[in-house]
Amino acid sequence: MSRDESDRRPGRDSLAARLIARIDREGPLPVDAFMAACLEDSRHGYWQRGGGIGAQGDFITAPEISQVFGELIGLWCGVVWQSLGHPDGVRLIELGPGRGSLMVDALRAAGAVAGFLEAASVHLIEASGPLREVQRQALLPARRRTRSHAPPIAWHASLGEVPQGPAIVIANEFLDALPIRQLIFAKSAWHERVVAGEGEGLKFALGARVDDAPPLAGDPTPGTIWEVREGDAALVAELARRAGPLVALLIDYGPAEDAFGDTLQAVRRHAYVDPLAAPGASDLSAHVQFAALKRSAAAAGLAAAGPLPQAVLLGRLGIGERAARLMAANPERAGEIAAGVERLMSPTGMGGLFKAMAIRSRHLSPPAGFL
Ligand code: SAH
Repeated sequence: MSRDESDRRPGRDSLAARLIARIDREGPLPVDAFMAACLEDSRHGYWQRGGGIGAQGDFITAPEISQVFGELIGLWCGVVWQSLGHPDGVRLIELGPGRGSLMVDALRAAGAVAGFLEAASVHLIEASGPLREVQRQALLPARRRTRSHAPPIAWHASLGEVPQGPAIVIANEFLDALPIRQLIFAKSAWHERVVAGEGEGLKFALGARVDDAPPLAGDPTPGTIWEVREGDAALVAELARRAGPLVALLIDYGPAEDAFGDTLQAVRRHAYVDPLAAPGASDLSAHVQFAALKRSAAAAGLAAAGPLPQAVLLGRLGIGERAARLMAANPERAGEIAAGVERLMSPTGMGGLFKAMAIRSRHLSPPAGFL
């Protein structure tokens, strides 16, 4: 049976069937609990599939589009390390490394910053077993090929497991995968939006009234949706708990200012699908609310800079020069390199929709690209 057929048949053990049974027992699930189950279920959760990222999978990300993306971030990490005073034992931490491509490209480029790789250890925070294996396959051979010193690499289930010390944290499209609650305005008040059972399937429904206060003034029209990601605050609190100077670069898609709206999306084979149709079979994500993230960072005692459109940050980090050099060295790939860079920079596409925010220990100045 192909993967498609098995997904369409809601067998008794499928995630859909188990969610329906759970809803029968416990009542409708808030959207964040539904999203967590779809992505993280240990048997049928989306991350257990491992194959979703890249041209052959369900969705494409910046490091899979162009090597220049990871290279610029690797150089940025080296410059940040210099600005911290070249500390020994610096932790280079990546949240949600996907196929490992960003880190492979970053380490290759960071070799140009004298002393950085000798001073660093790499820490990959990854929930998915299959993706950890993909990362291992990508990073270990690349590590053997590196002429300069290759830093040790360790995998962790959460940021809290990374040993203390100075830290440089990078994350691309990590936050958008953290579950969101959806609150819906109805009958002059905000309510939890929930996922309820409907025969053999699932539907969205109105849950209990909530007391949460939205960041935007005025009465919204009935049906307005406000998304709240509690993982934002949990992440910045974890960053703030670390001893030693810390600089984090978070790149993701979403608006710079507070905004209402339903942004929950399910993607499969590069097309949008119904998020309730086949739980666990599609990638679920939602906009990162950068204004809310910034408030969470401040509340945790950290400083934030940005968000900047991705195109602005990559421009400041020298994407034009780097791409030109790469094209001159690989003329047979020039068209492909130019097309990739154009995709990352497009003001109406990734260059504008994606934003970069830097979060740092309060005593540090804003890092390169955010000055
Ligand atoms: N950064 C990569 C992958 C983005 S997809 C890229 O740009 O291509 C999101 C990644 O985060 C995946 O590797 C996924 O397995 C991981 N992930 C999602 N939720 C996680 C969690 N709660 N803890 C650790 N890793 C998580």
